[in-house]
Amino acid sequence: MTAADSEVRHILSLSGGKDSAALAIYLRDRVPDVEYIFHDTDKELPETMDYIARLQAILGKPIIRTTPDKPFEHWLKIYRGMLPSNHRRWCTKMMKLKPFEDYVGDGPVINYVGLRADENRLGYISTKPNIKAVYPFQDDGLVRADIIRILEDSGLGLPPYMDWGRSRSGCYFCFYQQKIEWVRLLETHPEYFKLAQEYEEKTVEFGEQFYWSQNETLRELSRPERVAEIKAHHEAVEAKRKARRRNLPLVQVLAGLEPEDAPHLRDGCLVCSI
Ligand code: SF4
Repeated sequence: MTAADSEVRHILSLSGGKDSAALAIYLRDRVPDVEYIFHDTDKELPETMDYIARLQAILGKPIIRTTPDKPFEHWLKIYRGMLPSNHRRWCTKMMKLKPFEDYVGDGPVINYVGLRADENRLGYISTKPNIKAVYPFQDDGLVRADIIRILEDSGLGLPPYMDWGRSRSGCYFCFYQQKIEWVRLLETHPEYFKLAQEYEEKTVEFGEQFYWSQNETLRELSRPERVAEIKAHHEAVEAKRKARRRNLPLVQVLAGLEPEDAPHLRDGCLVCSI
């Protein structure tokens, strides 16, 4: 190893999701000097914070929390009440990527990313020239079934928000949530749903209505008839998905290659959801 090699820092960004957690465990004995960081937006679910705390105990090393220099509310004002969305992802930039780049600084860094070998996700990761992204799961051919095994063997298991049907980590108000996930948030954490609704309703003070969930307000989405409609639609889609899955070759199912990851999980912000 040269002197230059020893100056390279090794950093893994945790999102609170299963793949980055599994990668942290996978790297624990392979890259001893890895720095684990978690970008805390202060809008995380309690289940995510609990998962990160349990992961830290398993790693036996601190997980460093980076926080944005200004809170979400500050940026919301700067962006004139414009809630973030798929086309206006200022939240990732200001609340995740900037704290990440500030933490990293200008020295050479290897950034470990938990993309699996069985997914073809696009993502939004830092493009700073001193940061080199590497993908150990893809290099080593690890698929979903391997990730689940790593998590189970370690005793960590899957993130607890998955128990109530939320598919991704990240802010409780994340606009990447599907309609059914908003319904589940409403039923599991009504207080967070209400907070998200308040942000939405305040946007009109800036002269325009912005939405978290396409062109439907959360007030509208939470009406009992609408909740029933969303649930019925989701059940129908799931039944079709299961029928499709039954037709997959067994080898593909055993390898964890069934299309369990809905399209909404394949794009978005890697730093928030991997
Ligand atoms: S989790 Fe969603 S809302 Fe939060 S920073 Fe990431 S993309 Fe934005």
